Amino acid sequence: MAMDFNQCVAFVRKYASKSEFHGLTQAPSKQYGKTKINLTYYSMPDWLAVISAARWPQWTGSAEEPIRDVLGAMAMESDIAAVLGFMKLLAGQPIEPATLFPQLVLAYRTAVNQHQNSVAGYLDGFTGWGSGKALLAELGRKGRSVTVMPHWHHFIALPGEGYRNASQRGIRAGQKLSHVIEGIDLDDKDAFAKGALIKNNFGGDDTGTGKGANSIVFYSAGAFTDPRFIDGRMTDATVGEAGFQADVSLYHELAHATRALRGKETRAPVEGPPDFGNIEEYFATVLANIYLSETRPGAPLRGVYGLPAHPTKGWSEMKNPDGFYDNADKLSTPPRELMDTFLATQKEFYGDLAALPTPPKFNPPREHFERAQRLRAISNQRIPI
Ligand SMILES: [Zn+2]
Repeated sequence: MAMDFNQCVAFVRKYASKSEFHGLTQAPSKQYGKTKINLTYYSMPDWLAVISAARWPQWTGSAEEPIRDVLGAMAMESDIAAVLGFMKLLAGQPIEPATLFPQLVLAYRTAVNQHQNSVAGYLDGFTGWGSGKALLAELGRKGRSVTVMPHWHHFIALPGEGYRNASQRGIRAGQKLSHVIEGIDLDDKDAFAKGALIKNNFGGDDTGTGKGANSIVFYSAGAFTDPRFIDGRMTDATVGEAGFQADVSLYHELAHATRALRGKETRAPVEGPPDFGNIEEYFATVLANIYLSETRPGAPLRGVYGLPAHPTKGWSEMKNPDGFYDNADKLSTPPRELMDTFLATQKEFYGDLAALPTPPKFNPPREHFERAQRLRAISNQRIPI
């Protein structure tokens, strides 16, 4: 029997001590250093509801594989025995809830720490690189918050959502995050540029205000570092592909966040073989490639955004990084125009990246800046007649 959020609250109320009940029903949140980045995890009822929403493995066909995968990973964030105990309880097996509960609390607290520590570790890593420092500086410029929460509930609840995926959206200030399994109030309007069209799934399109919004990133490091991908127990078309490293994926999401904080998102369509779909994915991919190029000189960059129907090894790799700036990829918005927009909307971030030495070898803002300088130099040499 699955338990929904309210049933999970009742379960926690029944077995938690009075003093721990309140704390367990909040979303635990830790501020990263002096920044406005919050490392936040599910409340315990949310965590139990996410586990409960996954179906009990049938150990039969492959259709159940992804469900087992996420439970395995969520459990690895903590203690698999306690998580399995909860699943057995849901399946009606003779488990004594009063005995299980303290183990579950321990497992839950381990999961909280695991999430917060893994994300903090990558953010610490960013401070050692120019492109990372530039990202963190940009995230701090608008005084708005960025909250990094796990992605597991999206994988469980959204049909077709990839296991190794992550996402970013604008959210309202003061949004309670203790109950996210059934969705929260997002704030696309303020994350989107003034007048920019916001397509929603229900047909009622809207437009952005350009005010800027707080941002929420749904990201679980465990999805990218899961050892079962290394020993072959699990496979996924993104494993080993350019741009899908855990830290690069986090950089990508936080690059999206910089645009939401300023109210600059547009989703203007971008056509061409890399299949970015819209300008935000184009931005995030290009910016994460700068970080990739700085941290792993010579490693393949991500040149394709959309997962092809039949991905072959190396599907995401950029084939001609040296030709990228001159639009070797035949994008409907050439990289030069993307950089014009970057300069116009995020001048300091652009400037910080353009000023970086090599590596990163791949650095479209620097290319853009240097070409503009050469143009200015030429025009200064004109002799008026
Ligand atoms: Zn993205």
